Amino acid sequence: MFEQLGLIGCGLMGGSFALALKRAGLVKRVVGYSKSPSTTERARLMGVIDVEAPSALLAVSGADIVLIAVPVAATEATLKAIRHLITPQMLIMDVGSTKRDVVDAARRVLREQVGTFVPAHPVAGKELSGVEHADPDLYTGKQVILTPIERTLTANLQKAAATWQALGCNVVRMSPESHDAAFAAVSHLPHLIAFALMNTITGQPNGRDFLSLAGPGFRDFTRIAASDSKMWRDVMLANREELLAQADLFRRTLQALELMIESGNGEALEGLIHQASQTRANWRMTSNKPSH
Ligand code: NAP
Repeated sequence: MFEQLGLIGCGLMGGSFALALKRAGLVKRVVGYSKSPSTTERARLMGVIDVEAPSALLAVSGADIVLIAVPVAATEATLKAIRHLITPQMLIMDVGSTKRDVVDAARRVLREQVGTFVPAHPVAGKELSGVEHADPDLYTGKQVILTPIERTLTANLQKAAATWQALGCNVVRMSPESHDAAFAAVSHLPHLIAFALMNTITGQPNGRDFLSLAGPGFRDFTRIAASDSKMWRDVMLANREELLAQADLFRRTLQALELMIESGNGEALEGLIHQASQTRANWRMTSNKPSH
């Protein structure tokens, strides 16, 4: 049980964490801060936070748990803003979709205090952002990846794992590097392709007419193209090396398929489609709701 959550970034992810923690009876009070005072006020009016803080530093004051739920590019500035009030008793976590950049920022800013910070990525979310979409069930049944480094305090790592487990999450541990390599493949590349596909269609003279004819397959395939542009800009730039490597592999696979179509090689084409179809049919998502 925590006395006070200091929430920095009262949006979808942060707001959902505050609501889930409150509902589980795991926190007495939530003090929140967001870049725009209007967001912080909305979070208070919605009951997501109890007290509005005028700065990130004041949100951390008196907290025994801190969640940084801002765009990944704002993590370093946020850590700088709060570092003077960090104590070894505090559990500090983030929810960023990339981990190498976040861990590097934490090492640079927190230095000897870096052990208090437990990097986390809940594999949960939706294409809608903002506190108005915060949902206490967002994390239920989802995976949370923790990417501790050698200096992460064991007590904080255990507390972080126990907290996410208490919210119904399945906690997995891996290195920041393995995390970013895996999520480039299963999250960042699919988003890149979905954005590219939408623009490919609408960039054609009859693109809008084509869109009006699209069915459920197109809807399912492109759901994630409606995601927040600033968040995805940051994620893609933060994980650029891994993402570009995955994009290169994808381009080669696409080119191989194109060649088969061009040369009329139906047998080879069917073989590759069959392989993909079997893999997809046998794949089971660890969590039971859509996530990215
Ligand atoms: P969001 O709904 O847009 O919330 C982000 C919040 O951060 C907003 O309230 C924003 O405030 C605030 N903020 C932005 N810059 C800030 C700063 N410098 N200091 C303090 N607050 C700041 O976005 P989200 O979906 O919750 O994403 C937050 C994090 O979760 C990102 O790092 C993302 O990578 C990660 N994540 C997202 C998903 C997903 O599906 N959405 C899934 C997994 C992980 P204003 O309202 O004032 O702009």
